Amino acid sequence: MAKRTKIIATLGPASATPAMVRKLIEAGVDVFRLNMSHGDHAGHEAALALVREAAGHFRRPIGVLADLQGPKMRTGRLAGGGPVTWVGGERTVLTVAPCPEGTAARVGSDYAGLARDVKPGNHLLVDDGKMRLLVERVEGDDVHCLIEVGGKLKNNKGINLPGVRVSAPPLTDKDLRDLAWAIAHQVDFIALSFVHSHADVVDLKRRIAEAGGCAAVVAKVELPEAVEDIDAIARESDAVMVARGDLGIEISAEWLPMVQKDIIRAVNRHGRIAITATQMLESMIELPVPTRAETTDVANAIIDGTDAVMLSAETATGAYPLEAVSTMSRLALVAERSAYLVHVEVDREPGVFPPASVSLARAAVVLADERRAAALVVADHDPQLIRLLCERRGQTPVVAACLDQAEARRFALFWGVFALVGEGEDLIDSVVAQGRALKLFEIGDELVVVRRQPWDAIVVRRITA
Ligand code: PGA
Repeated sequence: MAKRTKIIATLGPASATPAMVRKLIEAGVDVFRLNMSHGDHAGHEAALALVREAAGHFRRPIGVLADLQGPKMRTGRLAGGGPVTWVGGERTVLTVAPCPEGTAARVGSDYAGLARDVKPGNHLLVDDGKMRLLVERVEGDDVHCLIEVGGKLKNNKGINLPGVRVSAPPLTDKDLRDLAWAIAHQVDFIALSFVHSHADVVDLKRRIAEAGGCAAVVAKVELPEAVEDIDAIARESDAVMVARGDLGIEISAEWLPMVQKDIIRAVNRHGRIAITATQMLESMIELPVPTRAETTDVANAIIDGTDAVMLSAETATGAYPLEAVSTMSRLALVAERSAYLVHVEVDREPGVFPPASVSLARAAVVLADERRAAALVVADHDPQLIRLLCERRGQTPVVAACLDQAEARRFALFWGVFALVGEGEDLIDSVVAQGRALKLFEIGDELVVVRRQPWDAIVVRRITA
């Protein structure tokens, strides 16, 4: 049986070709991510078409996630395209006034609120924390800084303000345009960056609904205030991403391992999807093999209870996109079979699931595992029941019989679910036939069919012909 942890791969120049998209699906990608921080709508449209074409070829429900950039603060452009060198101990000015030709002494920033939000004594971390500036004073549009840790500054590098409450709303004008594009193109998942609180998620869901869309919402947790509000964010979101790049700077990297566990646990408690992202196989951007620390990290995220693991630059711009995905698939297969993978239904929030579904699912999983059934099959179109069958992390894969590809793609991020689109009168007969064609099961195998409608039932069915 194939792996059960879901893999998200970011598309980019290294992967957005028809042949590579097909190979990545064969290697285990379940969802492709369009990073709206890069490229334009024509490029995203072409990438989306590639995915839909390849998914049609394999008749697989491959999802697409549009990741909105959010108010990521960046340094501006540099004279001659840069880079410039910041020398520790010297001083520099970051300005929100126009500064098209930045120098080491004066660099622009696209975030208009910068001079308003920072105070003397705050730190600015630049380019993933590689360089550190101390704010000495603010004069009008200019933030005067002491360079505490220098380095080579290139064009448009990210800025983080740990400990500073940033006033920018999470949806910029660019995000609103990207959101309209994503809804019009019916992408399956929309990710919101720099979520401050659950209110941001509620607002995005309202905008999607008002535009007639039905995309699921992924809240990216990368700010300390989002970590504080994690229960409400999990309650309001379809999925939550541990966005470790920015989070690791905002809360400091040494807290990240524990905060990752806290976030995943909260998301599990609310019966939502957890995604672990960023630098999972970072060294594979340049090398065909992962480091030992990376293999351990991926396995631990799965053991923590993540539904999906994500690749960013590894597949977008790296030299070994295919190797990165197959490495992740192999890591998932081994971790999933280990005794460390225990069910994740810890102290679930009351009211998240109907109690009758909880006991039905528990009984079905125990029965299927003990009889070594080939699959648990559900045809109720009930995401909560399917979720419950997976959250126990049993050994038996769950097959969701769906009415169409759009429904099937909704399950692309659910740990352990194979969604198959049924045809004809009897959805279950249809998915059993497809499951045989896909070699998910064979003659003699037992299937455990679970349903809530018209009344609760668990049926064991043997495949005979
Ligand atoms: P990004 O988000 O790839 O949009 O930066 C992920 C992260 O911050 O980890």
